[in-house]
Order: sequence, then structure tokens, then C-alpha cells
Amino acid sequence: MKQSPQLAQVVRRMAAGVLSRDGFLGADPRPLEEVLDADGSAIAALGTTHEEIAARLREVFDQARAALGTPVRIGERLVAVHHEAMGRIPCPWGGCGVFPKGEVELTDTATGESLSLTALGIHMVGKHGFYNGRGTRYRLEPDAIARLLRQVGG
Ligand SMILES: [Zn+2]
Repeated sequence: MKQSPQLAQVVRRMAAGVLSRDGFLGADPRPLEEVLDADGSAIAALGTTHEEIAARLREVFDQARAALGTPVRIGERLVAVHHEAMGRIPCPWGGCGVFPKGEVELTDTATGESLSLTALGIHMVGKHGFYNGRGTRYRLEPDAIARLLRQVGG
């Protein structure tokens, strides 16, 4: 698959040690186009859109951040807790501004399944349809997001 010059630059910024210590793709061997295509298809198959997923994740993120580290119960089974972190990180696409590094851990207390949400991660979902590489700490697997958001209700 041929990579556009713009995406090639994004991939360089995603490498470990450039913007983040561990990088955005991790050990995922697939080209970025393929990662984007696969997640785009998965989201479409779930009957939703990147924008809708991002909007709902942002609601959870904002609720948890407003609680300043106190765990927030969402729906019957989910708990979200915000962890403050120093610093800001730019989006690897460039031109999107910088994002605070704090993160929200969202856990389904019934299954133990959890996701780490960041302001940048949510931005990349909504704006770029990017869910991080498989196996990275911030990977937002579309099926897992859908399962968790089903517990949010609404
Ligand atoms: Zn961006």
C-alpha cells in the first residue's frame, strides 16, 4: 500500500521517543493506512462513527476530570477515575494544538475490562479515526469501546 507523504510524516512523529516515550503504533506491524482502514471498517460495522464515539468518550472523560481524582460511577457498572499528569503533548498529525497528558481509566467493574482515555486519544478518534496501534497502552479497540459505552446508556 502506497503511503501519502502527509501520512508518512505522521508515522515518523508516531515513533517511540518522538512525541511520546512508547510511540503510538507500538509493535503493530501494519502500515498506518491499514490500521486506519481496519478501525474505520470496525466502527462502521458497529453502526457508529468516529465523531460519535469521540463525543461519548469525551463526556466520560470530562465527568471524571471534573471529579479531580475521585472515582466516578457511570451507569451501573462503570467507574472512571482521572489521573493528573504534568505536561502537554501535540497531535502527531500536526496543526491540532497540544493536549494535557492527564488520563482517565474507565473500568467495567463486572468484567474488569478497562481503557485508558486521554484528551489526545479522544481527539485522534474523532478527528483522524485513529485508535492507537494494537498492543499499545492507549489502544482503544472498537469492540471494547462499544461494549463499555453500552454500559454508559443513553
Ligand atoms: Zn490531530
